[in-house]
Amino acid sequence: MTGPVTYCYGQHAADAKPKLCQASGFDQFVEQILALPRARSKTDRSYICGPMRLNGDGGLHRCKADLLPRSWLALDLDGGSREEGAILLMRLADYQAVAWSTWRYTPECPRIRIVLFLDREVDGPEAVRLGAAFVGVVGAGLHSLKWDQSTHRGEQECYLPMAGAEVMRYAGDPVDVNAVLALAPAEPARERPETPDPYQALIMERGLFLREIAAGKNAIICPFASQHSEETSDTATVYLHPHHNGHRWGRIYCLHHHCADRQQEDYIRALGAEPRGVWRGQAGGPAPYDALPPVESYCGEVSQWGAQRHTESARAAPTGGEGRDPGRPYEPPSYPQIPPLAELRIAPAELHIARLTPQCVVESYLYADVAVLAGPGGTGKTTLALWEAVHIALGRPLYGLTVHTPGNVVLV
Ligand SMILES: [Zn+2]
Repeated sequence: MTGPVTYCYGQHAADAKPKLCQASGFDQFVEQILALPRARSKTDRSYICGPMRLNGDGGLHRCKADLLPRSWLALDLDGGSREEGAILLMRLADYQAVAWSTWRYTPECPRIRIVLFLDREVDGPEAVRLGAAFVGVVGAGLHSLKWDQSTHRGEQECYLPMAGAEVMRYAGDPVDVNAVLALAPAEPARERPETPDPYQALIMERGLFLREIAAGKNAIICPFASQHSEETSDTATVYLHPHHNGHRWGRIYCLHHHCADRQQEDYIRALGAEPRGVWRGQAGGPAPYDALPPVESYCGEVSQWGAQRHTESARAAPTGGEGRDPGRPYEPPSYPQIPPLAELRIAPAELHIARLTPQCVVESYLYADVAVLAGPGGTGKTTLALWEAVHIALGRPLYGLTVHTPGNVVLV
């Protein structure tokens, strides 16, 4: 969005009747606010706030009731560690934004105001939800950061830089409002209705349920029990419920030799159902990101199609000729559904909250199992590696980052 940016400008903290202003775009908006006179004392500070509706007489009052939609959002970082403040500033580079140090800023305790450009306008309540969600995205994992969320309200003053403030401009993308709002908790938080589990229902229907071992874990009779060659305990085959113990999908585990190579698809088909339908049932309601079936289902569909072709040609063989009833219209095989590209695209917000699963050796820097340090010869790779090795061995902070997993280091 490159439409005009509207805002109000108040000349000092007590100015309750700010002026309505407009810029042709975000860059001009930034230039306008940075060109305003810089206060030398706290009481002289000027501010911006969201655009307000004009009264009949052409004046306006800074109040929630008169707030108009706006395409920018102000964040107020009120403190945090030096290291996490630095990481935050780096993350801001992804966005089209401007940030400045506030009058209480010290390097040890960064206090920063940030104004972000949005890819669409938001109204008052939306801006509050957006602000809370965005702070969660950009501050993910940075637990020392203290945010003053009052500036997310459009009627709240966002104080402009004072004389001597440090100003940083960022030329990334406008905030993807819809993507970030999708991460915000729904208002009000509603209970997700219990959806019946089709996998468990099939096990019950076939009379394979034995007993509950623990919450979310049942002893069952294996759907392939007739092929088992040895007797074992009644807990050799279990069913693990979906949405329990970190498992999203229900699973049958069978310890029997004959079942060693079986996939969930095999168990579900042995129960007389189609894997995809079962997984869809387990995914439940239209929660975010639930629209996609689990990865396994693609494999399931492909192998199912392969199997189907197999059986059809086998059936066709004895009759000869075309291999199908000429009286029946040709039905094309059902290919696996590929979700539209837009659904597969990773939004910047998702990328920010994504977490690496490998063990962390050095915070935000080095993870098991492989890392590369590349550079031309003679530029200090070995010296740097030695420096890092010593810090990891001693468990001392490396470049200000915590060493989470100190340990022995071998240089080969
Ligand atoms: Zn089995």
